[in-house]
Amino acid sequence: MPTLSKRIEHFTDSVIRRMTRIANQYGAVNLSQGFPDFDPPAALKDALKTVAEGSIHQYAVTWGAANLRQALARKQSRLMGIEINPDTQIVVTCGSTEAMIATMLTVTNPGDKVIVFSPFYENYGADAILSGAEPIYVHLNPPDFGFVAEELEAAFRQHPKALILCNPSNPTGKVFTREELQLIADLAIKYDVFVIADEVYEHIVYEPHTHVYFASLPSVADRTISCSSLSKTYSITGWRLGYVIAPPHITEGIRKVHDFLTVGAAAPLQEAAVTALNFGEEYYRELQEHYTRKRDFFLKGLDELGLKYTTPQGAYYVMVDVSEFGVSDDVAFCEWLAREVGVAAVPGSSFFRGNVHHLIRFHFAKNEETLQAALDRLQTLREKVQKSWKQ
Ligand code: GLN
Repeated sequence: MPTLSKRIEHFTDSVIRRMTRIANQYGAVNLSQGFPDFDPPAALKDALKTVAEGSIHQYAVTWGAANLRQALARKQSRLMGIEINPDTQIVVTCGSTEAMIATMLTVTNPGDKVIVFSPFYENYGADAILSGAEPIYVHLNPPDFGFVAEELEAAFRQHPKALILCNPSNPTGKVFTREELQLIADLAIKYDVFVIADEVYEHIVYEPHTHVYFASLPSVADRTISCSSLSKTYSITGWRLGYVIAPPHITEGIRKVHDFLTVGAAAPLQEAAVTALNFGEEYYRELQEHYTRKRDFFLKGLDELGLKYTTPQGAYYVMVDVSEFGVSDDVAFCEWLAREVGVAAVPGSSFFRGNVHHLIRFHFAKNEETLQAALDRLQTLREKVQKSWKQ
């Protein structure tokens, strides 16, 4: 038999998605893969019903239906404070997962270096391998996940082609401050580097923190590729609608890659999503309040259980420190937790470069009853650790 490609030897399937399968296998409350168990807005579901009855069932324009791009350009120009041309600066993709890999394939050559903050969303590791790029990791140091400016500049000195920034950050919940972003921007300009900004949690930020769009900083829009999606903002992770916003000459390249990767995102879903993009400011305020309540509810539960964690400033994840249980194999611990305690988390090591095995990630994009069920099960954690946790 011929052998399979070398490229697939260097990464595994997603640990996040594997944890969902393990959660299903053991009937665990699934706080691993981050997606809501509540419905998207009723107006959006209604729009989908109307579209289903209509005649938009064939391919949309490859880089996105015109009305969706126009709605996106209106909303994002307003928020990002830059003028976005829907005809030349947007590519609608199959989730921001495709936005990221299409961007990586467009801006990097095999062997190019790319700066990645660690911990990082696990897709970036695979994106780097698929595009042949070599990550240079810069640490975000627990428990507050700050970075050291000298370490970052040392990474820039290695002539990277791009830097990947996830802000608000998955998995840490860190929201980069304007000062931190400015520092990154200054270095990107000084060393002539692209910035690929994954901003899918742009609307999930907890007061007093605020989200600063990277492209909104002075003089960096021309080297910034902003990737985001409708998944988290409108609770439609299964619709797989994402997008890239970039200067025209970069967008042109990404459109070509996107064309041959997927042809395009689902046309009826693009049509329905226009409704969501036209929601007023009120929607985003309510979304923020909705997630603030969930965060506070879940963190209070963790406090009552005496578990240590880093308070998330944005996104819907919390990193919990399990070192008190003597965990040195967090993958085994998460499998044990799903099986014996009935709650699924993602082992922190799948996000870190290096030897970090004392953190696990829960997400709280769930109804309060689901979160309560998880907290109830976690009541038995200490007793069960005594009884049956062995590495
Ligand atoms: N972004 C989500 C997470 O980190 C979902 C990942 C995925 O499966 N695409 O859990």
